[in-house]
Amino acid sequence: MDPLLLELAKLQKDGNLKQSIEDVDKIIEQLEKARETIVADPNSASFTLAKLQNPLKHGFDKVNDDLKKVHRGHNAYSKALDKNFPVKALPTDYDALASHPSLINRAIAMHLLREGQFSVASTFLTEALSNPPSPSPTPGTPNPNPNNDSTSLSTLKSQELQEKFSNMYQILYELKSRNLHPAIEWARQNSTELENRGSNLEFELSKLQYIWLFLGSSVNGLPDDENNGFFGALRYARNNFPRHKHVRYLKDCQQLTTAILYRSNLKDSPYHRLFNTETAWDEIATSFTREFCSLLGLSPSSPLYLATTAGAIALPTLLKLATIQKEKRTEWTTQNELPVEIALPRSFIFHAIFVCPVSKEQTTEANPPMMMPCGHVVARESLGRLSKGGRFKCPYCPSESLMKDAREVVL
Ligand SMILES: [Zn+2]
Repeated sequence: MDPLLLELAKLQKDGNLKQSIEDVDKIIEQLEKARETIVADPNSASFTLAKLQNPLKHGFDKVNDDLKKVHRGHNAYSKALDKNFPVKALPTDYDALASHPSLINRAIAMHLLREGQFSVASTFLTEALSNPPSPSPTPGTPNPNPNNDSTSLSTLKSQELQEKFSNMYQILYELKSRNLHPAIEWARQNSTELENRGSNLEFELSKLQYIWLFLGSSVNGLPDDENNGFFGALRYARNNFPRHKHVRYLKDCQQLTTAILYRSNLKDSPYHRLFNTETAWDEIATSFTREFCSLLGLSPSSPLYLATTAGAIALPTLLKLATIQKEKRTEWTTQNELPVEIALPRSFIFHAIFVCPVSKEQTTEANPPMMMPCGHVVARESLGRLSKGGRFKCPYCPSESLMKDAREVVL
């Protein structure tokens, strides 16, 4: 096993404060007991206090010992970190981020706010604002404009964001405790915006609520009555399903209600899959977070987290590249493209890539994919070469078309 993982396991075992907290609780318990004894019989005060002396001293010694163990654990781990990740200077000539320190600070503040670390975010903002960073120009990157304040920290509506994210975490907390009501309430309040985005969240929440009620006491532990179990679900469906008028929900509503016929033996019914809630709660929480952030105009996960994680994945390859370039005295000249492939996890890929089948080049903003009326797609430059301004034949089928009939494809 990786030696660092071993050290981490040791740290998790020894480096936590569980034992210290238990021992402090014991001391508090002894003190409270003594107080009660003295209140009940004030004459016993000196005797009770004398009796308390030794156990208390022993208790405090124990807490100190516990803490020593924790410190030892942390020291060992930090040594292991230093050993496994020796500090090495990056082989770059300049700091590409140095020209935009306010943007970096803003990204950090936003990250803390959206992670729910409100008090850390507030301290960070206060300190960052009282020590404004000074940008230094970086060759080859757009440099800061001191008059442009739109990206600065002071314009960050931190209080407003904090309230919104605190609401989001509250709803997520309730979802974790299997309570859908606050999420349903939120989705109803934002129904129009969600519908405009083509989001199914409001319906998915209703659906899960129905299933949750339908499965009744066996999963939710509540007594089956007119509000829970089969009758509760039926009542819920009557009151709520008519809200979801869109035709795309029709099939689901039909299946959910038809399942009533199979309720005595749901698991052998054609609908058993609909009622499997194993992953439903996690999925609904993810979908809620995504919709909540998108209504705030934000991405579902923190851009700072994504950027640093992607950077950490890419770094070893880039370091190797830099070493090779130094040895061979070559330079990386393509500005918008890396000369090496960086394999990132699927969740880090946000844009589909299109390679033109004619030129074999990856399409770019300046040379986007274009779809001809026959449905075949090539890059705009290839299309220009094919058409030469007039009517031309598609390279993949017998259809003929004109350049002006092709439409840009946004991936
Ligand atoms: Zn074609």
